[in-house]
Amino acid sequence: MGRAFVYVIVGGGVAAGYAALEFTKRGISSGELCIISDEPVAPYERPALSKGYLLPEAPARLPSFHTCVGENEERQTPKWYKERGIELVLGTRVKSADLKRNTLLTSTGETISYKFLIIATGARALKLEEFGVKGSDAENVCYLRDLADANRVVDVMQSCTGGNAVVIGGGYIGMECAASLVINKINVTMVFPEAHCMARLFTPEIASFYEGYYESKGVKFVKGTVLSSFEFDSNGKVAAVILRDGNRLPADMVVVGIGIRPNTTLFEGQLALEKGGIKVNGRLQASNSNGSVYAVGDVATFPVKLFGETRRLEHVDSARKSARYAVAAIMDPENTGEFDYLPFFYSRVFALSWQFYGDIGGEVIHFGDFSGGKFGAYWVSNGHLVGSFLEGGTKEEYKAISKATRLKPAIDDLAMLETQGLGFALAVSQRPSASPPVEISSSTATSTVVLERPVYVLHVTAGVLVAAAVSAFAYWYGRRRRRW
Ligand SMILES: Cc1cc2nc3c(=O)[nH]c(=O)nc-3n(C[C@H](O)[C@H](O)[C@H](O)COP(=O)(O)OP(=O)(O)OC[C@H]3O[C@@H](n4cnc5c(N)ncnc54)[C@H](O)[C@@H]3O)c2cc1C
Repeated sequence: MGRAFVYVIVGGGVAAGYAALEFTKRGISSGELCIISDEPVAPYERPALSKGYLLPEAPARLPSFHTCVGENEERQTPKWYKERGIELVLGTRVKSADLKRNTLLTSTGETISYKFLIIATGARALKLEEFGVKGSDAENVCYLRDLADANRVVDVMQSCTGGNAVVIGGGYIGMECAASLVINKINVTMVFPEAHCMARLFTPEIASFYEGYYESKGVKFVKGTVLSSFEFDSNGKVAAVILRDGNRLPADMVVVGIGIRPNTTLFEGQLALEKGGIKVNGRLQASNSNGSVYAVGDVATFPVKLFGETRRLEHVDSARKSARYAVAAIMDPENTGEFDYLPFFYSRVFALSWQFYGDIGGEVIHFGDFSGGKFGAYWVSNGHLVGSFLEGGTKEEYKAISKATRLKPAIDDLAMLETQGLGFALAVSQRPSASPPVEISSSTATSTVVLERPVYVLHVTAGVLVAAAVSAFAYWYGRRRRRW
């Protein structure tokens, strides 16, 4: 049994959804595109699983968050795919891939062949067993990567209102789950080995703000230690968490967020890997000789031109943009330059919301009101701004830090940068550039592929008064909007 398609996407997550939208915008015929996913539902916005999905009141449920609602684009329900002649092969795992023959073998025994393959297999949650701890299969131990996991978190959470949850891991998943558990009236203790939460991104100062905020909501932090084992009750449920430092934490439920591993197994030995992911070039093409295989999203390690090195990112914006870019590169190779991506991460917890652009490294300059207002940080490396973080910004301010980071302005005076704070980014972003960045739009306004962005040397002092006024207005406007 076999079928043939021009384009096949293996994996049906965020990247697959955005790639499908881009294919339709660029014009494909019915029957040309097939998406194979082991999840039983059409692609959806995965970040919703740790946010709206876990709310006690009016929680988000499919079909409301199918891609591409995250970018205010079309909501791609199964009907959407059907109407466009896109074959959605759901609940079906690709068991093996033969890249020399351009074929995939699925768990139902079907052989699917392609002319172009987009690998969008994402990543899986790391299990405790991989760190020598047993008990992942206990019914009150939860992970959070897909819809099935999220349903389990909801069920377990509902069964232990007023009880105790231990969250293992202080990264994205841990922080977002902890906030959701608190909102569901569960007492939360977070355990992680680092000195502070979000250790891969936050500085101690930034982390201290969020930890203080979480503590004000009742969350307890146990840092610098790890889980060593579980204590089980007579029904096989976890009753307590035993830590390596000897502490025992009673637990009605456990949420584990200890990292992810890219799903590369299908392609190992056939494609080059780097930094845990499938290594692709600036056109997102993998290393196989015939140039027909692309990799996008969490599973891809791609060159980040801005930093002059390859990165594998685990964030939704990168999944969305790399997917759209790969489709542009496949369908319009002549007019599509190299992928030029500015890394962007965000999170929303409680009433807080932050965005980060660029890279961390070099010296950090903090600015703003760390007592609960708007604050942020800049990272300066080799005399240039390379990264920006902002909590509590308005849309315009986030846009400004994004633009300023992309421009990599020269920074001669760190003290001045600290004094100017957010005003610096606002001024840089408003300054007319001598030669504006070159962008080409794909067929959609939101799918812009950046061809080339020169590095500008900008000195901003003159723009600061204007920026301060804009900043004051934006702050006032932002507060009004939040009240609405
Ligand atoms: C709970 C949660 C919250 C998050 N929140 C944020 C956030 O706030 N901000 C942010 O920037 N990022 C966030 N992320 C990260 C973001 O969701 C990911 O970066 C993004 O989903 C990556 O998209 P992807 O398409 O590469 O992979 P995925 O969305 O993981 O999709 C991969 C798909 O491939 C399928 N698959 C894998 N192997 C096979 C196979 N052999 N056969 C068939 N199908 C297969 C998987 O089942 C899955 O459907 C969050 C992630 C999670 C889990």
